[in-house]
Amino acid sequence: MPLVPIVTLPDEKILRQVSRPVASVDASVARLWDDMLETMYHAPGIGLAAIQIGVPLRLIVIDLAKDGEEKKPVFLANPEVIWASEAQNDYEEGCLSIPEFYEMVTRPADVKVRYQNRRGEPREIEASGLMATCLQHEIDHLNGVLFIDHISRLKRDRVLKKFQKAQKLGKL
Ligand code: ZN
Repeated sequence: MPLVPIVTLPDEKILRQVSRPVASVDASVARLWDDMLETMYHAPGIGLAAIQIGVPLRLIVIDLAKDGEEKKPVFLANPEVIWASEAQNDYEEGCLSIPEFYEMVTRPADVKVRYQNRRGEPREIEASGLMATCLQHEIDHLNGVLFIDHISRLKRDRVLKKFQKAQKLGKL
């Protein structure tokens, strides 16, 4: 299973794409998930959407297991939020596509997500806490949305400029 380069800012052309649903969860999807998982573990991160390795398909991997804990990967195809609580929650978010930048983001505290699992079976997951945040963050990626879209415009412009400048200076 190869590691795959992660697309980062300022490359918005890829990251802003809306990913398309996968027609069926087949062997090629399973291979892609495996590559995504290994790439995510290596980064390291707790969630990754296919578009972050340049593949515009509605596929996500998440693993919230801490260092030293048994790995608990969750593979989601075509995930969609079908319910979100009115109660909100603040989490300091980061993103493998926006390295070394963290900011508080307010999102619904609990969500229900429908998706297909590794066998292509329909599943629903009810999540709260970090899992709820992570699911919403990753599903945003499938719609071309980044977590910096949920923070103030001033802060967003500042981080975008930082990455544009780093690229110009050849630091990316
Ligand atoms: Zn992200």
